[in-house]
Amino acid sequence: MTFTAEGAAAEGAGDAAATRAGDAAGRRGALPRLLDLSPGEMSELCASLGEKPYRGRQLAAWIFRKGAGSFSEMTDVSLKCRSLLARNALIGPDMAKEAEDASPDGAVKTLWRLPDGLKTESVLIPDGERYTLCVSSQAGCAVGCLFCRTGAMGFKRNLTQGEILLQALAARRGAPGGAPVTNLVFMGMGEPFHNLHNVRRALGILNDPEFMAFPRRQTTISTIGVTPALAGLTASDLKTSLAVSLNSPFQEERDRLMPGARAYPLDGLREAVRLLPMRKGRRITLAYVLLGGLNDTPAHADALARWAGGLRVKINLIPFNPWPGSAFSKPPDGAVESFRERLTARNLTALTRKSYGREVSAACGQLAGQSESPGGIAGRRD
Ligand code: SF4
Repeated sequence: MTFTAEGAAAEGAGDAAATRAGDAAGRRGALPRLLDLSPGEMSELCASLGEKPYRGRQLAAWIFRKGAGSFSEMTDVSLKCRSLLARNALIGPDMAKEAEDASPDGAVKTLWRLPDGLKTESVLIPDGERYTLCVSSQAGCAVGCLFCRTGAMGFKRNLTQGEILLQALAARRGAPGGAPVTNLVFMGMGEPFHNLHNVRRALGILNDPEFMAFPRRQTTISTIGVTPALAGLTASDLKTSLAVSLNSPFQEERDRLMPGARAYPLDGLREAVRLLPMRKGRRITLAYVLLGGLNDTPAHADALARWAGGLRVKINLIPFNPWPGSAFSKPPDGAVESFRERLTARNLTALTRKSYGREVSAACGQLAGQSESPGGIAGRRD
C-alpha cells in the first residue's frame, strides 16, 4: 500500500528534463504530509491556503476515518480545493508493504519499507471473529533485549505519527475476510515511551471515536518500564491499558537480558507501578517472556510473586518464540504451567499467552530481522 497524490503525476508528466523532475521531486518531498498532522493542524493548513478551516475536519475524516489514499476520493470537497491540496500537500508517507506472510494459526505479519528504506513491521493476531493489531513505534529499538530480534538490530529511528497510523489504516482495510480489527497493542518494534510524542499524537487519532475509534481500554501500550514516563502518567492517560515487560525479578539478570532497562531498576519500577493513578478496578499487565531453563524456575516464580504482591497487576506469561540464531529456547509446557500455578497459588492472576505466528516469526522484530539475512522473505512482494 502506497499513498499517492495526483499532483505528483501532474508535475512529473510529459518528458520534462531530469533536472526539472528532480527539482519537482525535491519540492514535493518538502510538502506537509496530512497523515502526520492533527485535525487542528489540517485546519491551519487549509486556512493558510485560503480555504475555510472546516475543510481540515473534512480532510481528517476522509483520511483517518474513511482511509482515503488520494485526494480524488474526497468527493464532497470541491475540485478546485482538491487540486489546490494536491499541489500543496501529500496524503501520507511513501511507505509500502515489502512482504506479508500468514501463519496457519491465522496471524498475518507485514514487513513495511519506510520512505528512507528502513524496515518496520505490524502483525494482525486473530481472536475469534476479530483481530488484534500489533503496531511498531520505532524502526529498531535501543533497549537491546537479548531475546528479541529487534534488539539485535539496534535503534534506527522513531516512526512518525503517519507511519504509525498507516499500519492501522492498512490493517483495517486488509484484515482477512474483512474481519474487524478491534484491539490495538503497541508491542511491535520499539519502546513506545522512547517515542512518546509521536505515540501520543497517533493515539489521539487512533482512539478518537470520530476517526479510528479504537476503544482506549482495548488499546495497550507495552513498555520496559521507563519510570520517569510512568511517573508522569495521569488517570486519564491510564484509560489506555498499560503493560510492563518484566522478564526477570532479579536485578542482575534483568540488566543482562534487557540492557536498555538498566536505567530503571526494579525497586524504582515497582514504586512507579504502585503509584500509578489508576481508577478503581483497573490493573496493569506485567509481561514475562519465559526463556527455557533460564527465567522459568520455581525461584523466579517465587521472586516474581514477591515483586508483584500488593500491586494492581495481572501477569501474562509468554513462552519464548525461538528465532534462528537466538541463544534461548522455548520452555517446556510443564515448566510454563507449574510457573503459572506457583503465581496463582500466591493469589496473583497469571495467564499463559499463546505465541502467535510461530511459522511467520511473529515475535517482535523477527520479520524485519529476517529481511536482512539471506534466505529471508524480503524478496517476496505483494
Ligand atoms: Fe525493544 Fe521490545 Fe525488543 Fe526489548 S523486546 S528490544 S523493548 S522491541
